[in-house]
Amino acid sequence: MQKNSSPINTPIQDISRVGPQYGAKLKKLGISTVRDLFYHFPHRYEDYSLLLEPDEIVEGQTCTIIGQIKKTKITYTFRRRMAIVETWVGNENRLIKAIWFNQPYLSESLKEGQMIAISGKPVHKKTLIFQNPAHEFVRKDFDPQDPIKDLIHTGRLVPIYPETEGVSSRWLRYILRPLIPYVFNVPEFLPKGIIKAQKLLELPKALIGIHFPPNQKMLSLAKKRLAFDEILLIQLMVLLQKQSWHDQKAVAIKFDQPLVKEFVSNLPFHLTNSQRLSAWEILQDLSKNSPMNRLLEGDVGSGKTVVSAISALQAVKAGYQVAFMAPTEILAQQHYKTITHALKKYNLNIALLTASTPKKKSEREELLNDIKYGNIKILIGTHSLIQESVKFKNLSLVVIDEQHRFGVMQRASLLKQITHLEDGLNKTTPHLLSMTATPIPRTLSLTVYGSLDLSLLNEIPAGRQTIKTKIISVPKNRQATYLFIEEEVANGRQAFVVCPKIEPKTGPLKKGHLNIVEEEIKAVKSEYEKLSKQIFPKLKIGLLHGKIKAMEKEKIMQDFSDKKIDILVTTSVIEVGIDVPNATIMMIEGADRFGLAQLHQLRGRVGRGSHQSYCFLLSTSGKETARLKAVIDAKNGFELAEKDLQLRGPGQFFGTQQSGLPDLAMVSLTDSALIKNARQVASQIIAEDPQLKNHSQILERLKEFQQGLHRE
Ligand code: ADP
Ligand code: MG
Repeated sequence: MQKNSSPINTPIQDISRVGPQYGAKLKKLGISTVRDLFYHFPHRYEDYSLLLEPDEIVEGQTCTIIGQIKKTKITYTFRRRMAIVETWVGNENRLIKAIWFNQPYLSESLKEGQMIAISGKPVHKKTLIFQNPAHEFVRKDFDPQDPIKDLIHTGRLVPIYPETEGVSSRWLRYILRPLIPYVFNVPEFLPKGIIKAQKLLELPKALIGIHFPPNQKMLSLAKKRLAFDEILLIQLMVLLQKQSWHDQKAVAIKFDQPLVKEFVSNLPFHLTNSQRLSAWEILQDLSKNSPMNRLLEGDVGSGKTVVSAISALQAVKAGYQVAFMAPTEILAQQHYKTITHALKKYNLNIALLTASTPKKKSEREELLNDIKYGNIKILIGTHSLIQESVKFKNLSLVVIDEQHRFGVMQRASLLKQITHLEDGLNKTTPHLLSMTATPIPRTLSLTVYGSLDLSLLNEIPAGRQTIKTKIISVPKNRQATYLFIEEEVANGRQAFVVCPKIEPKTGPLKKGHLNIVEEEIKAVKSEYEKLSKQIFPKLKIGLLHGKIKAMEKEKIMQDFSDKKIDILVTTSVIEVGIDVPNATIMMIEGADRFGLAQLHQLRGRVGRGSHQSYCFLLSTSGKETARLKAVIDAKNGFELAEKDLQLRGPGQFFGTQQSGLPDLAMVSLTDSALIKNARQVASQIIAEDPQLKNHSQILERLKEFQQGLHRE
């Protein structure tokens, strides 16, 4: 292909207005070619399209005026700290003042007599003025009937971009505008038939429309086309992933019905129908010689662990090893206990491997050897379990619990790592069972998890009590809540107190992340101090957060389990599946800062025993009540997930950084019609042409798209 020689692939630094210096800056935004620049989409628009005469402007109404500069002057504030440039613009009817702070160079360029367009929201300071408005010079022959032709920063829908140091939206517009002819070189990768049937804009038009939309209608058409592309590419990606996963070889594990029956009949409870069905689906998958890739999705407490235990037992009894992976140490430890307990009768060798266990180097080496020679049948751990050079003898099944905690890209690389696990079985791929307690709305799961088969646990085991959920407005009702907790503890119960989540600040992610962790720990410590010294001086208070060493964490959880701790103060680390049946109170501080699905998960930590349980959602702002009410009213996690998605958008729902999806795709995840259409088209393409042999343009675009995803 002459792909690289196409002008659209011109290195961005070769564009004369850009050059190497800006080229380097643009690299930080992931932009290295002209094409990348056009695929750097605005994240919002300023609507400056209302053109008014100077005497028509109104306070607070965003608009644009076009007029002649009558006068410009510069003054400095006290001690010449800050420059203020003032300009008077207008016509014979009225002069309007515009002022700019801290941009002294403007006094040079805003020359008397020049025509200028000014866009912004007038404020009232004795008279109506524009403060730091957008501005742009206008040619003498400017046609006010067609302002779009000339203007890029004012007088229209103006794009605002993700920026980086030295690269402003204004500069990006200035660079992009003269490059527009390049977009006609962007190869149209969609077949004409699809474009027509889906009523899509042609690609060049869409790319122009997203940067310089003449009106809202064109903007939404442009967005639709580009979102369709992204969703289609994601769908193609997951369908191809699914196909190539299934093309691999796995060991077929024969369904041993008597074994499974016996295990199930010895359980202290009856399986729910959906547990039965899911277990059956999994056992069917295991019996095939292409690897399973199944997601077991079920609300908190729906009983996923026992389903995975059945699968693990089956695999081990057939003579193979099983790996069980959890996102945190604490959860790995708990699974270790649960699984060991559930399979006690079978005398299997089960081991725990995390970053901190086993601690001693010699013990660790011994364990690694035992895994390698197949003495360990079930290995439970964090993802160090596959990251380290752990070698298995004959690994046949990998279970990933709470898989949503691993981001999309992390999951993709997990798949790769799992595929390449050395297992002595002639390079077979282990069967993969992922589990999640985050109920995912259907449109989302089809898009993001389209490469997986789904099993649903949509019933809660019989005999579960409902948890009484209350919104507590604080400070008003705080005291009463404490009294209630004290009473419950006097009755022998236990409580969780979850500290508010600290919101990420803007700025470099890594650094911000560190700050958040530290701030959260600071907050949880001071809460612990307050509760143990002032509020409940007579009770035993425990403290748990992400920075506590694994061994110590385990001890704290053990103490809580053994009732040596009455109230456990914690960050949201306990979100992921801690099981203490005697705990009946979940008190969540700053509940408005959590997602609904997350609150639901936290609530799921109580109500696990026979006692009535309570969830208190503490909120300082009355506004949030409507949102929090959804947690009370929702029948199940699926319903909450849908709500959460609507209310907060997919970005928040997934955590953008976690999802690894492009923005436009993220936003359109709520557009179910678009998703449905894109999915249909993708399936059709793959069905007709599984290797994309006759769709080389699409294949090409797909490769670029995937590279883009990995870069982010
Ligand atoms: P989750 O799906 O959140 O991981 P768990 O597997 O931890 O849920 O199960 C929650 C609790 O419910 C456990 O104590 C488990 O023993 C119990 N449990 C699982 N299945 C059933 C059932 N069918 N009937 C009653 N209790 C069950
Ligand atoms: Mg669980």
